[in-house]
Amino acid sequence: MTKMEFKAESKRLLEMMINSIYSQKEIFLRELISNASDAIDKIYYKALTDDSLTFNKDDYFIKVEADKANRLLKITDTGIGMTKEELENNLGTIAKSGSLSFKKETKMEDGQEIIGQFGVGFYSAFMVADVVTVLTRALGSTEAYKWESQGADGYTIEPCDKETVGTEIILKIKENTEDETYDDYLEDYRLKQIIKKYSDFIRYPIKMDITESRPKEGSDNDLEEVTEEQTINSMVPIWRKNKNELTDEDYANFYSEKHYGYDKPLKHIHISVDGAIRYQAILYIPEQIPFNYYSKEFEKGLELYSNGVLIMEKCSDLLPDYFSFVKGIVDSEDLSLNISREILQQDRQLKTIAKNIKNKIKSNLKSMIKESREDYEKFFNAFGRQLKYGVYSDFGANKDDLQDLLMFYSSKEKKLVTLDEYVSRMPEDQKYIYYASGESFDRIEKLPQTEVVAEKGYEILYFTDEVDEFAIKMLMNYKEKEFKSVSSGDLGIEEEGKEKTESEEKENKELFDYMKNVLSDKVKAVRVSKRLKTHPVCLSSEGDISIEMEKVLQAMPD
Ligand code: ADP
Ligand code: MG
Repeated sequence: MTKMEFKAESKRLLEMMINSIYSQKEIFLRELISNASDAIDKIYYKALTDDSLTFNKDDYFIKVEADKANRLLKITDTGIGMTKEELENNLGTIAKSGSLSFKKETKMEDGQEIIGQFGVGFYSAFMVADVVTVLTRALGSTEAYKWESQGADGYTIEPCDKETVGTEIILKIKENTEDETYDDYLEDYRLKQIIKKYSDFIRYPIKMDITESRPKEGSDNDLEEVTEEQTINSMVPIWRKNKNELTDEDYANFYSEKHYGYDKPLKHIHISVDGAIRYQAILYIPEQIPFNYYSKEFEKGLELYSNGVLIMEKCSDLLPDYFSFVKGIVDSEDLSLNISREILQQDRQLKTIAKNIKNKIKSNLKSMIKESREDYEKFFNAFGRQLKYGVYSDFGANKDDLQDLLMFYSSKEKKLVTLDEYVSRMPEDQKYIYYASGESFDRIEKLPQTEVVAEKGYEILYFTDEVDEFAIKMLMNYKEKEFKSVSSGDLGIEEEGKEKTESEEKENKELFDYMKNVLSDKVKAVRVSKRLKTHPVCLSSEGDISIEMEKVLQAMPD
C-alpha cells in the first residue's frame, strides 16, 4: 500500500488564513520584520561555528521604505537570503517554516531567539498587498531570484539581479475600499508607530528615512525639510539588561515611555528567571491610582512579549485581581503561541509565570512595609481597598497571600498599622484583636462601646471602609488571635459586678419592658450594660453581623 500525502489546498487555505487568523492587519509588518530579524540571526549563528564567516554587527540591519506615489512598501534585510530551492520550499508551501528547520538542524541552544516556527507569517502580507515580490540572494551564492505572487493564484520564480546578500520584500499596497483604508501603510508616521509597537526590541536596527521640518541653519524662522536615516527601534530591551547597569531613573523613564502612567512609580521589580520556564519581567507599583481604577472600564494586565516581539498588550491572566494595579511587561522565550502569535496555545507556562509573579509582588510589597514605610502607606492609601476586596473575594482563598499586606487605622496614634504590628504589641492578657466600625474616626471615637476596651489599654482598629469588616470576617483570625468587634456580646474582658448587674436588671425590669415596648421592632432587648463608662446607653448586636455590616448589606441591591 502506498501512502499518499495530503496536499494542502493552498489556494483556499491562503484565503482562509489571510482573512481569519489575524485580528489586526497591521500585524503583517511585525511578521515581515520578524522574518528579516530571523534571517540576520541565521548568519549570526552560522558565524558562531564557521570560522570563514565574521559577524560585524554594523553590517546588519532592516530597512522599511514607503513609496507613496507607486503604493509600494519595501522591507529590506541583510540576512541570510534564500536559494531558489528555499524560495520554493519556504514561500511556496504554506506552513513550511525554514526557520523551524534551521533551529532543529543547528540544534543550537541559543537558537531560541529565532522567532519563526509556523510558516504562515509571511502570507500575512496579502492582508494589505495585491502583489508581493521577493528579491533574494542567499549567503554564499552569486545568483539572485525573484519570487512574485498575487496571492491565491500561485507564484512565479525567475532569476534577477541583486548586488548584495539578503532579501527585499516589496508590497504593492491595496487600494482603499469602502470599509478599509490601506493608505496608512504608506505613511511614515504610521509605519514608525507599528514598528515601535510590535518590533521595538528586535535586536537589529530597523531603519527608515524620515523627513522632518527643521529651522534652517543660521535662521530662526525659515524651515527646511531634512531627510535622514533613523533607527526606529530601541533594540535592547531594558529587561534583558543587567540590574546593576540600570538606575532608578532608567526604570522611571521606561515607565513613562510605556505610558504606564503620568506618575512616578513607587517601586519597580525586575525579574529574571532561568528555571524550567525562562522569563524576564519589569513590574511597577504605581504611586497614583488611575482615574478609572475602581470602575468597570479599568482593564488589568501586563504586556506580554515572546522573544522581544509583542504578543499581547494586556495579558490579564498574568495578574490576580487583587494586584490589578501592577503595570509592566513580561518577556518569555518559552511560550507556546498559536499560529497567529497573538494568543497562547496552552496556559501551563503562563500559569507558572503568573504564580511566580504574584509571589514576587507579594514579597516586594512586604519588604516595602519594612524598608520604605512612607511609600507603602502611600501605596496602601491608593490600592489598599483592592487588597481588602481580594481577601474578601473567592471565599478567603487568598488570605494567606494578603493578610500581611493589610493596614488599618488604629486608636494608637491614629496611624496605619499592620496586623503583625498590632498583634506583636498586644498586652499579655489581651485575647482578641479589637475593632470598631463606623463612618469616620470621630464617630468611632464617640462610640460608647470603645470605652471599656480603651480603658483596658487595648488598641482598637478603626474600620471606616465598608469592606474592612467583610474582609476581617474572611480572615477570622490573625496569628491565632480572633477578631472581635467592640460591640459584640462577649468582649472577653474580665468584668466585675455580675451580681450587681443581675439585681439591677431585676429592679429595673418594668422600665426596660416599657422601653422595649416603645422601641417595639427596633430593638431585640433592653439590658443593663457593664460596658458604659461615660455614656448613658449603647447599641450592640448579637451574632456575627455587626450593626455596620447590616447597614451595608441592607443598602445592597437584591
Ligand atoms: P515562519 O517565520 O514562522 O517560519 P513565515 O511564513 O513567516 O514563517 O516564513 C516562512 C519561511 O520563509 C521562513 O521560515 C524562512 O525560512 C523564509 N523567509 C521568510 N522571510 C525571509 C527573509 N526575509 N529572509 C530569509 N528567509 C525568509
Ligand atoms: Mg515568520
